[in-house]
Amino acid sequence: MRPEILFKAFAPNTNLQGIGPRIGKLLEKHVGPRIIDLIWLFPNNIVERKYYSTLNDIPNGTFGTILAHVVKHKPPRNRRQPYSITCSVENETVELVFFNARADYLKNVLPPEEMRVVSGKIEYFKGRYQITHPDYIVQKHLLKTVCGTEPVYPLTQNLSNKLVRRSIENALELLPKLPEWLDPLLLAREDWQDWSTCQRSIHAPKGIEDLSLQSKMRRRLAYDELLANQLALALIRNQQRETDGQVIKGTGEFVEKAVQCLSFNLTSNQNNIFSEIKSDLSSRNRMLRLLQGDVGSGKTIVAFLSMIYAFEAGFQSALMAPTEILARQHFDTLSPLAEKIGIKIGLLTGKDKVGHKRDILSKLSSGELNLIIGTHALFQEDIRFKKLGYAVVDEQHKFGVHQRLALSDKGIGIDILVMTATPIPRTLTMTAYGDLDVSNLVETLPGRRPVNTKAIPSTRIDEVIYAIGRAIKKGARAYWICPLIESSETNNVVTTQERFAILRSIFGDRVGCIHGRMKTPEKDKIMEEFRRGVTDILVATTVVEVGVDVPEATIIVIEHAERFGLAQLHQLRGRVGRGTADSTCLLVYRTPLGDTARARLTILRETNDGFHIAEEDLRLRGSGELLGTRQSGTPTMRVADLDAHSDLLHVAKNDADSIFAHDPHLQSGRGQALRILLYLFERDIAVQYLKSG
Ligand code: ADP
Ligand code: MG
Repeated sequence: MRPEILFKAFAPNTNLQGIGPRIGKLLEKHVGPRIIDLIWLFPNNIVERKYYSTLNDIPNGTFGTILAHVVKHKPPRNRRQPYSITCSVENETVELVFFNARADYLKNVLPPEEMRVVSGKIEYFKGRYQITHPDYIVQKHLLKTVCGTEPVYPLTQNLSNKLVRRSIENALELLPKLPEWLDPLLLAREDWQDWSTCQRSIHAPKGIEDLSLQSKMRRRLAYDELLANQLALALIRNQQRETDGQVIKGTGEFVEKAVQCLSFNLTSNQNNIFSEIKSDLSSRNRMLRLLQGDVGSGKTIVAFLSMIYAFEAGFQSALMAPTEILARQHFDTLSPLAEKIGIKIGLLTGKDKVGHKRDILSKLSSGELNLIIGTHALFQEDIRFKKLGYAVVDEQHKFGVHQRLALSDKGIGIDILVMTATPIPRTLTMTAYGDLDVSNLVETLPGRRPVNTKAIPSTRIDEVIYAIGRAIKKGARAYWICPLIESSETNNVVTTQERFAILRSIFGDRVGCIHGRMKTPEKDKIMEEFRRGVTDILVATTVVEVGVDVPEATIIVIEHAERFGLAQLHQLRGRVGRGTADSTCLLVYRTPLGDTARARLTILRETNDGFHIAEEDLRLRGSGELLGTRQSGTPTMRVADLDAHSDLLHVAKNDADSIFAHDPHLQSGRGQALRILLYLFERDIAVQYLKSG
């Protein structure tokens, strides 16, 4: 249950004075349905509303406040004309201009011969001063209230700044003073004020510098959020660790045999990670580990060896791939090795025939199969294992937080290794995957050379085709990626079908084409032809993006490169450079190129390092979009900016660890305040773990 002190803050925004159902809905659309959602909307600009005693002093087009003597009302002669009111300030005149105004209302607020304070943008127009739709018209004694610096909020249609600002002011009035949850030493060191003072001052900026992400109040509020997040992760991590895992302790015998069969030696990075995994598996605690490494960095073999290790200990393992092609490919590469050392592995995808499926399922429950490879869909179904101990989830480029949780619900105590080929920026691993241990494969495999990457405008497509022609004559194989299968009227994009037709007319049946809408057997056949070299050029959509492995392919052309995201381009590029030969990636773009697209192409040309690219991606896109927040179920950061506040993230992590070490159930005075913090940032799930813990 949410603590009572926060009840008002989490009430519907219509509880605020002046907000009825209609405005409430508008605000809900803009920021969220509750009062608390309003206070997280921070101003992104300011207006200086200075008091001017004479009109002469006012620079044209600035906001200002004046004391005006109302002289004369001039109602419009027809509908299209504005209602205009002449006023004087000292011995000069200013026109107040209103469109679609009600005369009785204007007579009421601006009665002739009286003095009123008027504030708005003052313009000098055709030799006259005028203010169109003043922001404020108030009585003389209220002059002070409409002078000074005013916050300007991001708005959507039908919401005025005045309304949003007043609503936020009312919301702040309602907020109780909350007990301090931060360490006094930290407060002193950073010179931070308490939460509600910071919250109030961020909505009352005194100058443009107060809007900065690095202002003291913003940093304090960001820190609160980061701490709530880190603390929640620590609690969840602990809860998951407390669930006992199984002790999976292999003999090393079969692993040894498998290693003998490999045509290469594991790198020391691979060996170290394998050791980490073995020690996780053999301990009583559950393993929850994230294995990150660029495409083709050698994750799969490490995962496979660890499954063999589990087999030695008498456990079955499951390997889940994000697509059917990939599941099949894992199966094809691992089967020969498994056969050599005497391990039974099976493949199960969503599209298997009923008979085959039944057979596999029965072999899993009898224990005849030691290892099963399948798509994620596999685990939505009702499979029973004889003795499942270990699951490897190959997520490739997806941040599938949901899948991870679904799986851990299914088999209590199963050890889990999540593999991702899109390295996640460190700040994001800490905030979104902080409940996992992380291993990074950063070493380049021996003999690998970086992919030579070039950006070429689409006007030079003929040169690209010519170069590909020469390369395949010399025995090269090439992918040609297009963003869409078929054209639609709304866009003007070269599709796989068009490109396939063009290349086919030049290179004949050396060209194949594959896309996501084909049936699996057809896709398999086309992939296989390309793999065997029956075709030299494979025109494809992004179906080849994830993990497809044809080491002989050394060229990839990405058409309309401007339409792909950075991580996706890097993934696609990872299809080549998998052998020891030099590889090339040609990024063909349509002009004019936007700033972000240009930045993406530049980064790709400059680096092949997926970890570096991930950091740049975060910078270009922002964390919300990168995480795909909504789908991944990861809570958004409302205040903290993972880039700007990354220094604070590290402090928060240490802080959370130390809180957890000293007061794991949050029972001390500070612990109680921290519970409020968790609720404030809606990490309620973590608080539930506290009770059970
Ligand atoms: P990932 O799973 O990270 O995408 P893979 O495990 O598929 O990468 O490895 C890519 C290729 O590199 C495979 O053909 C694999 O056999 C090979 N490979 C893996 N480890 C090494 C190594 N230490 N030395 C040489 N080649 C390796
Ligand atoms: Mg792989």
